[in-house]
Amino acid sequence: MNKKSVTDVDVKGKRVLVRCDFNVPMKDGKITDENRIMGALPTIKYLMEHGAKVILCSHMGKPHNIFDAKVKLNKKEKKAVEALPAEEQAQAAEGYIEKAKKNDPVKLTLRPVADRLNELLGGKVAFAGDVTGPDAEAKVAACKEGECVLLENLRFYAGEEGRDLEFCKKLASYCDIYVNDAFGTAHRSHASTAAIVEYGLVKTAVCGFLIQKELEVMADALEHPVHPFVAVLGGAKVADKLNVISNLLNKCDTLIIGGGMAYTFLKAEGYEIGRSLVDDDKLGYCKDMMQKAKDMGKKLLLPVDTVIVKEFPNPIDAPVEVKTVKVNEIPADMEGVDIGEETRKLFADAIKGAKTVIWNGPMGVFENPILAKGTIAIAEAMAEAKDATTIIGGGDSAAAVQQLGYADKMTHISTGGGASLELFEGKVLPGIACLNDKD
Ligand code: AMP
Repeated sequence: MNKKSVTDVDVKGKRVLVRCDFNVPMKDGKITDENRIMGALPTIKYLMEHGAKVILCSHMGKPHNIFDAKVKLNKKEKKAVEALPAEEQAQAAEGYIEKAKKNDPVKLTLRPVADRLNELLGGKVAFAGDVTGPDAEAKVAACKEGECVLLENLRFYAGEEGRDLEFCKKLASYCDIYVNDAFGTAHRSHASTAAIVEYGLVKTAVCGFLIQKELEVMADALEHPVHPFVAVLGGAKVADKLNVISNLLNKCDTLIIGGGMAYTFLKAEGYEIGRSLVDDDKLGYCKDMMQKAKDMGKKLLLPVDTVIVKEFPNPIDAPVEVKTVKVNEIPADMEGVDIGEETRKLFADAIKGAKTVIWNGPMGVFENPILAKGTIAIAEAMAEAKDATTIIGGGDSAAAVQQLGYADKMTHISTGGGASLELFEGKVLPGIACLNDKD
């Protein structure tokens, strides 16, 4: 990695703006998973201990831009409004906006994160209830060396996702040094993740320890893997992972495909897949990838048997009657929702023989415990892969590994699903590309 990090700059007495990823899951105002907070601590502690005035910022969830004069509806609300007769639309829109103004500041405030940070950091963290307003201005001005201020949810302002110049200028006015440590949003090109630096508003821009670690582990595994290198992909759709599949085929020895994605590959192979998930316009792509694997002498492993159901469970975790069949026996009126027992063994054997394993995406509808066996089998096999570098690319797979208690058996669990997928695609992340290069 040739980007500067916090250890390459003098932070003593400087105001340092740190973009963190504090987008933590919340229930009834309580943080239910602190991983992202814990992941940010090393950088924050380092800055505090080295005499910086630390200004923290982050987004939380997908709020409306409630701190702007004109609050926009989200896509779903907009669609619902547009479906109404013209004379009812204005009032319905007003209703949504009122609700957003009432709910978002309660549900999507970063205040609980500030409270938790304050506990973890010896009472040295203040919270500003806005970002560009008087509270942030006052709290930033009052911040002393070795102290922190956490600003309110950046996405309460349209300027964050809209890369608004004035919004960036305000953020830049709070700092002498910019630090990006939000790996989970490093693939987004927003005001606080990239534009503030790209517009030339902060000259000193470096990464924090979390981004440094994520990149070191994942880029190293992708660029210099110890072979055999096995990549495991799952999740819902082929369309979301086109470049990932192609790029990983170039790098790995074995590509395992499970989850909803696998049925499009199976259909491309000529199997009848019943009512299973399928991307019909990606059949040609799947054929090309299977040919590419053959031409390159790579193994592309697909399920050989599958767990099927008549009705997709509703709600998703409802009890469901299942059957396991070979992939050439899926009845027309049933759908595949997990990999079967034989496939679990096939995939696990490939993983256990590997020296490098990366994984992104569940093998089935893992939200339902009856349909989680395939996903569990991958987590188990990775936990048992002795002497292998094992990397979980965030998202659902990371959650599954944590829930199963295998977290400490993995080399690395990424804090960013989307960001690590883009690394797997071979893309340069905008939140990292904009940072200062090492001399
Ligand atoms: P992704 O967001 O692409 O990683 O996909 C995750 C989602 O894929 C999860 O919500 C799973 O329930 C879903 N999924 C995995 N396998 C299947 C399948 N065979 N059929 C339908 N949905 C699936």
